[in-house]
Amino acid sequence: MADDKRLTPRAEDFSAWYNEVVLRAELADYSPVRGCMVIRPNGYGIWERMQRVLDAMFKATGHQNAYFPLFIPESFLHKEAEHVEGFAPEVAVVTHGGGKKLDEPLVVRPTSETIIYAMYAKWVQSYRDLPVLINQWANVVGWDMRTRLFLRTLEFLWQEGHTAHATHDEAEAEARTILGLYREFAEQYMAMPVVTGLKTDAERFAGALRTYAIEAMMQDNKALQAGTSHNLGQNFAKAFEIRYLDQTGVLQHCWTTSWGLSSRVVGAIIMVHGDDQGLIVPPRLAPVQAVLVPIFKNDEEKAAVVPAAKTVFEDLTAAGIRAKLDAREGVTPGFKFNDWEMRGVPLRVEIGPKDVAKQSVVLARRDRPGREGKSAAAVGGLAEVVTKLLAEIQAALYQRALAFREAHTVETGDYNELKAGVENGFVLSYWCGKAACEERIKEETKATLRCVPLEQSGGGRCVSCGEAAREKGLFAKAY
Ligand SMILES: [Zn+2]
Repeated sequence: MADDKRLTPRAEDFSAWYNEVVLRAELADYSPVRGCMVIRPNGYGIWERMQRVLDAMFKATGHQNAYFPLFIPESFLHKEAEHVEGFAPEVAVVTHGGGKKLDEPLVVRPTSETIIYAMYAKWVQSYRDLPVLINQWANVVGWDMRTRLFLRTLEFLWQEGHTAHATHDEAEAEARTILGLYREFAEQYMAMPVVTGLKTDAERFAGALRTYAIEAMMQDNKALQAGTSHNLGQNFAKAFEIRYLDQTGVLQHCWTTSWGLSSRVVGAIIMVHGDDQGLIVPPRLAPVQAVLVPIFKNDEEKAAVVPAAKTVFEDLTAAGIRAKLDAREGVTPGFKFNDWEMRGVPLRVEIGPKDVAKQSVVLARRDRPGREGKSAAAVGGLAEVVTKLLAEIQAALYQRALAFREAHTVETGDYNELKAGVENGFVLSYWCGKAACEERIKEETKATLRCVPLEQSGGGRCVSCGEAAREKGLFAKAY
């Protein structure tokens, strides 16, 4: 490849590298509408795999999908005081329709609590109607001024779950169950280690009692919130009058939860696993897991190699491997190698004339570029070898991301060490629980208290004020 095609190295300018990968791997493109994005088939293919995995997890835990309208009466947003305060600044409002000014403006959903709970109020009458366990796959709009492909865009895709329960404990269990699913999804499928924790009052969802989140470290050492799960208490149930008659005939307000994970996690895949050659997609989420590249110099070689490659393609496909045969004419194998490396396909299968003669192929791992990641394998039983190798790549990506996070995490009780630590990654420090200490750290270091991790032990002194503290906070600069 020509030099001008080289990606900006991550170490030189991470942000430029990220944008170049998104564009050159054809994951997304800028849209004619400023701040919006077009998700191209390569990017959408990853999102589709994610959807399938999550959707199966939600259904296995008793949830069903439904769909609610894009437009929400503006007055709905005002029913929950904290909620409107949190969302009003970034809401898009429709004032005209059918050539007329509307009697009541319509908000383009920034999230759907209000319209969904207006419906739950209608549907829930008795304890027998509970729990309500609904998810929706949708687009939402938040008028963000500092946009970034996948990470922050005016419109983005997500799933939002909304559940209603009879008791606080059931709602709390639901919020925690979903947090566990998000963790499993991030770690087992995205190969991305996450910290699960509770958000502080300053960072929790507008209108929630408690917000839980998963936080991951990107390769520029910054944190990315990759999914949130909220116990909304009775705040929305009271605002929207979601009530039920309990077993003793007493009218009670429900307890609700909401939880969401958005297409920004496609950006996380890029930032956690990508390298200076481009994207690396974990095999379990890769639309193409293995790409076959036939190698030949003349028609005679082609006549031997291409049919052999087709047979291998059929064998892999029959074994459930998402394979692709790159039979493009007019481009060199070297060009194809670089092209698929950029797109992040986890495994390349090379088939040349010598390989055909030996009844073998060369396998090249995307996560280990160069000779180190290459191995030969016999055509007989290849599907089994590839399946095993894909699992190895999946595990290796997770381990590499985990080792990276551990190498960039410090635990300290010293304020100066915290200040230095957040320049280089995550810092775990005891925090007294006071907003003033959280605010001071944010002001002086630009790092936020990402969450109070669920896994805690012992107690200590607040890193900021020195007072007794029961829990450690996770501090980091964040996207
Ligand atoms: Zn303190």
